[in-house]
Amino acid sequence: MRAWTVTGPRPVEEGPLRFVEKPVPVPGDDELLVHVRACGVCRTDLHVAEGDLPVHRPGVTPGHEVVGVVAGRGRAVSGLEPGDRVGVAWLRRTDGTCAYCARGAENLCPASRYTGWDADGGYAEYTTVPAAFAYPLPGEVDDVALAPLLCAGIIGYRALRRAALPPGGRLGLYGFGGSAHLCAQVALARGATVHVMTRGEAPRRLALELGAASAQDAYASPPEPLDSAILFAPVGDLVPVALRALDRGGVLSVAGIHLSDTPPLHYASELFYEKELRSVTSNTREDGREFLALAARYGVRATTHTYPLSAAQQALRDLKAGRFDGAAVLVNDLS
Ligand SMILES: [Zn+2]
Ligand SMILES: [Zn+2]
Repeated sequence: MRAWTVTGPRPVEEGPLRFVEKPVPVPGDDELLVHVRACGVCRTDLHVAEGDLPVHRPGVTPGHEVVGVVAGRGRAVSGLEPGDRVGVAWLRRTDGTCAYCARGAENLCPASRYTGWDADGGYAEYTTVPAAFAYPLPGEVDDVALAPLLCAGIIGYRALRRAALPPGGRLGLYGFGGSAHLCAQVALARGATVHVMTRGEAPRRLALELGAASAQDAYASPPEPLDSAILFAPVGDLVPVALRALDRGGVLSVAGIHLSDTPPLHYASELFYEKELRSVTSNTREDGREFLALAARYGVRATTHTYPLSAAQQALRDLKAGRFDGAAVLVNDLS
């Protein structure tokens, strides 16, 4: 099969990925072999390719927003059958036994493993996934539209939960890419007022089309104080900006796995009056199941830009340069 491999992390303009021929992977006893149909391009893939995240598996194949079909399975797998459509997401495995797993916080499991970082992911014709971590994807929604829901959607949903938005509340979104535009749809469907702060005309236009009450530059003030805010842009400079935009008692949730350093925070204007700053770490499978059910109920749809599998590196360059709104999706046109 053909697959992309990170040959040595460096800026994506310098081509850290190579498209190679390699054997179709063999699933472990508790794993599925998945024939990839579509794979979303997530900012985390860029962090893996460029070395913002440390190398966990040399030569890894990125990609953790996979929609595919079960093509084989290990001896210990039951339930899912060859031909079933499944999703493969970022959280690949946990130990299921530690104190965090025991209290329902498997996203904090110190033994957790991740698709496209610790194990080969979906920038390939085939990939594998532990069956217990695959999401069954019944229904009619097409593969490309579903793919970005599997990380961008799920993480955006967890970030929204972490932001503790009150019913009918005022939500600020900083950055408006793949994750934010899905999160916004859930918040709007639940009656929130959404204000978007982002660079770039196209994302601001998309925000307004989706129903945001306002859209302005990333560093601009929203037209009213916010009950909650979510920082999607991986820009630490925006942390104090978003904290200042919060009303008393407001919560800022930082959605990214990587953030540039934050400047010093000014206690009186950015933290006092019980403002809270929270991070978001991965997600639990429960988050994933809840979000996928809500997405189906509310008709959450990703705005997508497709690339053939062979153009993955270009898709990452375009993501970095902000050349599209919504989410990029690779389509397996080879098999
Ligand atoms: Zn654990
Ligand atoms: Zn992701």
